[in-house]
Amino acid sequence: AKWTPDEGWAYPRIVPYGPLTLDPATAVLHYAQEVFEGLKAYAHADGSIWLFRPEANAERMQRSAHRLALPELPTDWFIGSIKALIEVDAAWVPNGDEKSLYLRPFMFASERFLGVRPSQHVTYGLISSPAGAYFPEGLKPVSIWLSTEYARAGAGGTGAAKCGGNYASSLLPQQEAAAQGCAQVAFLDSTEHKWVEELGGMNLFYVQSDGSIVTPELSGSILEGITRDSLITLARDLGHEVVERRVSIDEWRDGCADGTITEVFACGTAAVVTPIRSLKWEGGEAVPGDGEAGKVTSELRAALVDIQYGRAPDRHGWLQQVLPA
Ligand code: PMP
Repeated sequence: AKWTPDEGWAYPRIVPYGPLTLDPATAVLHYAQEVFEGLKAYAHADGSIWLFRPEANAERMQRSAHRLALPELPTDWFIGSIKALIEVDAAWVPNGDEKSLYLRPFMFASERFLGVRPSQHVTYGLISSPAGAYFPEGLKPVSIWLSTEYARAGAGGTGAAKCGGNYASSLLPQQEAAAQGCAQVAFLDSTEHKWVEELGGMNLFYVQSDGSIVTPELSGSILEGITRDSLITLARDLGHEVVERRVSIDEWRDGCADGTITEVFACGTAAVVTPIRSLKWEGGEAVPGDGEAGKVTSELRAALVDIQYGRAPDRHGWLQQVLPA
């Protein structure tokens, strides 16, 4: 679909997958005015196809668009585009083994114009791709690299928006993490270099020895993860106390050493819940518990995927049926 100030959103259509042709002066190529989303469609055992909290993705894309001076895509256009694509691509939604169809809505400045001002022509698109189970052989804990040199986002910046620029700035730290044998990079705040924000593409949780759970509060520069929000609710349903507050990097290190932190895990749409075996930095590492996937981590992951795949009741009304319509 296309947007202009005169017409608003118009011309929705589905075309065969293929390259986009862009003028070399297209605004997004120069000023990175773009936002995107990530969500999944899940097939249940009876063959029906469902989305998980798509309004939350629609609303986050609206907030991201606002920060990037892009127009809001109405929620019914967002969800309507997904339903229309899945109707065409239903055969691509994998069934069984916790597979899914990954959906990638995106919006970008498509005006041919060099100059720093919001684009007067915007394009919204949606692509999809089948996604395999993340941990086909059971939950495998990963190591994380602490970035001491780089921040992902700063106060007043675009950290809370899901825009490509945030990921551009995290590519180099992510490359350094990979060179250290780590799956992702952990970022601290950009002012005090002290408070834990999030990973390159996931939010963080800590399980404490008293059974309570802590997750870094929404600082304005971390992404408001929908998995994070869902897990806070599910953990409370399961009787855990959950606290959103600042967590310092010293608390992470010391808590692993003295046993007050028993499990650390990361969460996001792609990998759902991933146990963290070790936080590494130059010359040291912090390992919670015995480094294996913890009990609470496994319990929360199961609670979430059981809802997504229709194996547990959807008490919070999070699922939306796509097919049969
Ligand atoms: N933080 C970042 C930087 C991310 O890219 C993602 C993935 N969208 C998340 C957190 C997790 O968000 P969600 O649970 O909505 O996928």
